Amino acid sequence: MIGAGARWRRSGAALAGVLLAGLLVSCGSDSRPDTSYLLPWPGGSSFAVLQGPLIVDQWGACSSGCGSHRDEDGQHAWDFDLPEGTPVVAARGGIVGLAVGSWPADHCGGLAPVADQPPGYLVSDSMGNQTNLVRIDHGDGTSALYLHLSEVDPQILTKARTGEPVVRGEQLGLSGRTGLTGCVPHLHFQVEQTVRADWYTTSLPISFTDPDVLAQDPNGVPAEGGTYVSGNATS
Ligand SMILES: [Zn+2]
Repeated sequence: MIGAGARWRRSGAALAGVLLAGLLVSCGSDSRPDTSYLLPWPGGSSFAVLQGPLIVDQWGACSSGCGSHRDEDGQHAWDFDLPEGTPVVAARGGIVGLAVGSWPADHCGGLAPVADQPPGYLVSDSMGNQTNLVRIDHGDGTSALYLHLSEVDPQILTKARTGEPVVRGEQLGLSGRTGLTGCVPHLHFQVEQTVRADWYTTSLPISFTDPDVLAQDPNGVPAEGGTYVSGNATS
């Protein structure tokens, strides 16, 4: 028992040394973790916001996110108008918390319009769990969710197993319409609380630092109906 304890202390000291070395390296190159977000498609391309974060005024009138972004989980989400097959890239670096790429690209449904129901009424929400997705864990209690992909990149599926980091701008997969989309291709993007047992959790307000987003809104929040040029690049 004593011997085992000594080994633990030695490995603890070695670990502390490794952590200290890492700290010195990161201080030396001034590479503190970049916590900002860039639009999740390749730089230079522009796409519109089909549905933005929820905005309801004091009288209860809804002007953004009124379809499927009404609940706590999705209220800070964006639906970007990416045609099927558009590269989807990481808005921020992290590790792959979850990657699902097993659904066929045409596996979609669930949002058929129904008479006497508000827009976004769910005929069947079972499709909500039947979507290709990537979730990137930022390591600070938040994760970014990239939904409705037609396919997930093989290297992302590999990194989901190995824990290798994903850098901002790295391709995650291709956009699509899998899951609860009404078969309309788009990218649902949100940052949410990291909960291991649940991939669709309470969404969090974030802002983007792409120059075009900031030029249109100093707060960096893409608006429903707006069109934005991505400033993303591999970091
Ligand atoms: Zn959405």
